[in-house]
Amino acid sequence: EAKLQRMPKAKPLVGKVALVTGGAGGIGRAIVERQLQEGVCAVLLDIDAAALESTVTELSKKFGKDVVRGVVCDVTSEESVIAAYARTAIEYGGVDILVSNAGIASASPLEDTTLALWNRNQSILATGYFLVGREAFRLMKAQGVGGSMVFIASKNGMVASNQAVAYCAAKAAEIQLSRSFALEGAPLGIRCNVVNPDAVIRGSKIWTGTWSQERAAANKVSEEELEAFYRDRSMLKRSVFPEDIAEATYFLASELAAKSTGNILNVDAGNLAA
Ligand code: NAD
Repeated sequence: EAKLQRMPKAKPLVGKVALVTGGAGGIGRAIVERQLQEGVCAVLLDIDAAALESTVTELSKKFGKDVVRGVVCDVTSEESVIAAYARTAIEYGGVDILVSNAGIASASPLEDTTLALWNRNQSILATGYFLVGREAFRLMKAQGVGGSMVFIASKNGMVASNQAVAYCAAKAAEIQLSRSFALEGAPLGIRCNVVNPDAVIRGSKIWTGTWSQERAAANKVSEEELEAFYRDRSMLKRSVFPEDIAEATYFLASELAAKSTGNILNVDAGNLAA
């Protein structure tokens, strides 16, 4: 006789451990804050030691120094990634959640795209997500209690933007990686999902750095006008903020999404729909 299956109640993530790459960046920091609000311990991995230190100091003041750690790590280096997980295991005993988010942005016409730029995108985005994901998988498997991974990819992993061939291809690789992780993780209770942001301008170093300055200059607009441009062309006529990506990430990482794996949540103000 078939029993009525009940929806699992949302379990609080209190006491879980989340590792967030690019945690000192705009989106990464918002993701970390959202997790800390839920009682998760966070380990921030970032290549930018100065930004990492100031972010960890600020978050420690706000949430307490026992719940947040920073580890300088280059996600393109296998040695560096393995060392970061070893450090996390020593500090907190393991990892329950991985948010793979560290990234760069690049724009270049196809003809001018050098092999070096192509390789840089592949190594930070595709290879970086593979390495941090594989180590999380190994650790979660050894722990034997499942786990959850969220890959922050991009709208550009689904559709191309003009003159961003290396970035678009690498973001598509991240999305396909997540499906392989979901497939091999399922028997072990390890889920893997994707959040695809569209342009997140405010709060992001990518956008406040040379990328947006170049884009703004190329289009002869200020950065504020650039944000307005993305907002106005969106279906919802709303800007996407780091906090929006953090909320979607929290949902997918938590038991609220216990029955979703290999999925994509576009946080794009509707842009991928039409
Ligand atoms: P950001 O520049 O503010 O943060 C990225 C962080 O990654 C930085 O702190 C940087 O130091 C770190 N990082 C770069 N290379 C690294 C490496 N080799 N090892 C470890 N850390 C490294 O950018 P963001 O806007 O917060 O972007 C976060 C993610 O979101 C990226 O994967 C990006 O591609 C994606 N994304 C961003 C947007 C956007 O509009 N901002 C849109 C779509 C997707």
